[in-house]
Amino acid sequence: MQFCQLAEVFDRLESTSSRLEMTDILSDFFRKVEPSELRQMIYLSVGRLHPEFYPQELGMADKLVLKAIASVSGRTQKEVDDLWIKLGDPGEVAEQMVAKKKQMTLFSEPLTFKSVVEGLTLIETATGKDSQDRKMKHLARMLHDSDPVEARYICRIVTGRMRVGAGAMTVMDALATAFATKEERPYIERAFNITCDMGLVAETLAAGGMEAVGKIGVAVGSPVKVMLAERLRSLPDIMDRMGGKCAFEYKYDGMRVQAHIKKGEDGFVKLYSRRLEDLTHNFPDVADALREQLKGTEAIIEGECVAYDPSNGSLLPFQNVTHRRKKHGMDKAVEEIPVKIFMFDLLYIDGVDYTVKPYSERRAKLKDSFAPKEEGLDIVDYTTQAVITDEDQAQEFFDKAIASKCEGIMAKSLEDVSIYRAGSRGFLWIKYKKDYTQALVDTFDLAVVGAFYGMGKRAGVYGALLMAAYDPDTGRFGTACKLGTGFDDAFLAELPNMLEKYRSEKKPSSLEAEMVPDVWFVPGVVLEVTAADISISPIHTIAFGSIKEDAGLGLRFPRFTGRVRDDKTPEQCTTSAEIVEFYQMQEERDSDESEPSES
Ligand code: AMP
Repeated sequence: MQFCQLAEVFDRLESTSSRLEMTDILSDFFRKVEPSELRQMIYLSVGRLHPEFYPQELGMADKLVLKAIASVSGRTQKEVDDLWIKLGDPGEVAEQMVAKKKQMTLFSEPLTFKSVVEGLTLIETATGKDSQDRKMKHLARMLHDSDPVEARYICRIVTGRMRVGAGAMTVMDALATAFATKEERPYIERAFNITCDMGLVAETLAAGGMEAVGKIGVAVGSPVKVMLAERLRSLPDIMDRMGGKCAFEYKYDGMRVQAHIKKGEDGFVKLYSRRLEDLTHNFPDVADALREQLKGTEAIIEGECVAYDPSNGSLLPFQNVTHRRKKHGMDKAVEEIPVKIFMFDLLYIDGVDYTVKPYSERRAKLKDSFAPKEEGLDIVDYTTQAVITDEDQAQEFFDKAIASKCEGIMAKSLEDVSIYRAGSRGFLWIKYKKDYTQALVDTFDLAVVGAFYGMGKRAGVYGALLMAAYDPDTGRFGTACKLGTGFDDAFLAELPNMLEKYRSEKKPSSLEAEMVPDVWFVPGVVLEVTAADISISPIHTIAFGSIKEDAGLGLRFPRFTGRVRDDKTPEQCTTSAEIVEFYQMQEERDSDESEPSES
């Protein structure tokens, strides 16, 4: 296949914001592609050569890409750099420069899909001495043979800016349309949720149909999308919703990890964050302990890594464990910031998929699968848990959790249906945090989608940000507030750098927005925000029409908490349904408070 056919599909996807239209474009295209090429195309559509959880990334610096553009376009480096300052996106710079170059180049061969994958692989694997120079030359070779649209996408792919607007939900709709039925769509989604590998699912489906997809299972080394919790505003509400009986666990304030453990000669331990980043390097002590103490040969477990004070064993807040994310000096960090892992779930062990088993069975097997450490301090532990059958017990357990420096509790259903729902948020798990008992309802995790230039003291940096929440049903983002408080000077100075990679010339196609910032960003950076309350908003677009026709919901008096949620993807942000729920909880609370008291 010629690369220009794929580039044309990317271009058509980018120029529409209709999910239905994207589904049609993709499903037509999927039918025409060889299954083995389809796999790679799916990865390329999000700017990668492998599934998301693979550590390698193309990640070429803009400067290097601009050098390659200058070398093939016959323009001076200054001309190319100036255009980049104006446009912000090396892809568009390449497109414009290559369009001009075309008139003067005589000898170029059309790019095939295969040759582009080969070129990108050379870029990804170039290491050692002169590697930057070699990367630049491999890129220049491809650009030499590119037409303008191909050049745009090649440069976006190598700089990690590849976002054509079709999210995972749309890709799965298109796969179902092309190769299965609407009714079979949930099985495609499950296969994706338990492998996090859309390329694998697409190739399997295109080559072997739904029967082959049904055989895709949970496997050590392939991260599983994490199960998430809903929230309710009070312990009695939780007990009610759980039918009067459920398990409570402490909700630890640390970093979630999914550990994939395999013993033996070809063994390994991999720790993944909830964003599927490889965290093994940050927790070598946890990885070693899990491997040593696992009784079986291979398993996937989940737990929370929490920092503690070695002088008294007391647990420390999240911020402490994030220091482990430093790239260098890990030995020192392991010593200075000791952590423990509190395990709370078992997804797989020795050939058996536990995600399909109810919570009590998973928990019992988990507690039976690790041996205590023979001597010295044991850093492998389990979440404190109890079965709760009334409100007094619930309150007592919650108070103990808070006294033990936890954030609150996680209530977990004991019903037979309480399987591990990979990638979904539901009421089988319900979280309840200390914050809920205070005036502010909770924190919101929102994606940065725009910035406003600062004035006065903040001149020269961004002064405020446009923040968005996510709607998983439509796969789109909607704005929820303009955020201008809670930033310190150091953070403001760092912001442009943090956001640069996500800068976009126009409003991202996955975003609904009325408010227009000075700079747009595709959703990438997630910040934690508190707010006084939620109100109906004529300007913000999240949950548009849910409460009032022609209006969305907006956060009032939003404030940055200081916490960058780099453990969350933008799709793991607070959802529009949660914001609606908050709004309704707040309305209920306000009407309860205005009821005359009986005494
Ligand atoms: P939140 O980040 O507020 O959405 O809360 C969900 C997170 O709580 C999970 O992703 C875990 O990182 C964390 N967590 C802490 N303790 C537990 C527990 N006992 N069970 C499940 N998740 C837990």
